[in-house]
Amino acid sequence: MSDQPAYRADLRIDVDAIRHNVRVLSARARDSGARTMAIVKSDGYGHGALTVAAAALESGADRIGVASIGEALQLRAGGITAPVLCWLYVEDDDFGPAIAADIELSASSQESLRRIAAAAEQQGRVARVHLKIDTGLCRNGCPAELWPALVEDAAKAEADGHVEVVAVWSHLACADELDHPSIDRQAERFGLAYEQARSAGLNPIRHLANSAAVLARPDLHFELVRPGIAVYGLDPVPQHGDHDLRPAMTFRSSVVSTKRIASGESVSYGQQWTAERPTNVALVPVGYADGVPRTLSGRMSVWLAGKRRPVVGRVCMDQLVVDLGDDQVADGAEVLLFGPGDRGEPTAAEWADTIGTIHYEIVTGMYRPRVTRTVVDALVSVDSGSYRNDHSRQELP
Ligand SMILES: *Cc1c(COP(=O)(O)O)cnc(C)c1O
Repeated sequence: MSDQPAYRADLRIDVDAIRHNVRVLSARARDSGARTMAIVKSDGYGHGALTVAAAALESGADRIGVASIGEALQLRAGGITAPVLCWLYVEDDDFGPAIAADIELSASSQESLRRIAAAAEQQGRVARVHLKIDTGLCRNGCPAELWPALVEDAAKAEADGHVEVVAVWSHLACADELDHPSIDRQAERFGLAYEQARSAGLNPIRHLANSAAVLARPDLHFELVRPGIAVYGLDPVPQHGDHDLRPAMTFRSSVVSTKRIASGESVSYGQQWTAERPTNVALVPVGYADGVPRTLSGRMSVWLAGKRRPVVGRVCMDQLVVDLGDDQVADGAEVLLFGPGDRGEPTAAEWADTIGTIHYEIVTGMYRPRVTRTVVDALVSVDSGSYRNDHSRQELP
């Protein structure tokens, strides 16, 4: 037995790394006179929205952004009192509870603005609204030809006292491709939309920059920036240099058992890997149900007992097998699937590169029903997963 706790499938969340990253990002924003909205949609990219929001607000962010109203209300229920913006609605979404909870709402059309203003009137409150212009992503912003009518309506709603227009905003399509011509084209359209808003009598702030633009385009910081992935320590523009970010998520497991197999024996479903000589193999109790992509079969390694060791045969639903050669490891020994890379373990970026996706998708997909999440904080130790995951455990520093 090892002296480490034996995790089955655990995400270790390093809160100090999140604090560090937000300090780095908000310092860059401050250098251009901008404030920072930390994006914690999709449960904080899998890290725990409440934990990340609280850590970000302690470290230089003063606003939080999420996609849906439900996510915003969860932050309020968890005690987050800072401004929270959300921007993606479905037809049946009710703006009333969001306005009652002081959630800031994005409007991309006259119709959504009308619904927001009506809900505000019903609540007897002023809705804080961010007007979103589509500058070239073609998702949910207002098309340029409908924008003059939207800002006119917004100015009227503001005069009527139902709405306060906080910001004009947009989102970049290719900010991670540093020289992509669409970035400047979007910035130009954004500038025009802002001027139209001002001409309509509005006095909004502007926000456009996601993580990549926070790191690589200080000229696009305006009054507020919206970093997401970089908050979690994953760099969207590593080609731009070292940005001093620290990955906050480590995925770890432990050895269930080991055995020696003979030369010629094959491992796992489909017998895709055959031992060429007698070897020791370790069974690790994580699989594709726990977020290990099956497409990593034959293409991944783990950090175990002081070195990288190959995973052999197919990744199964619940298990994978590691080739130890002639080494022996104790049952319960820690297995690092990915982490910051400091000890030589793989990173989420390495997984993503291997299977042809982005690290965003890797970390955001990791927290699942039987995966625990352990929040590690140098100051306090809390378990942010407990509201949905009874198996989470606390860990003292
Ligand atoms: C997700 C998102 C962000 C953050 O993007 P990153 O690339 O993760 O920094 C910012 N703004 C909007 C509208 C988003 O949807």
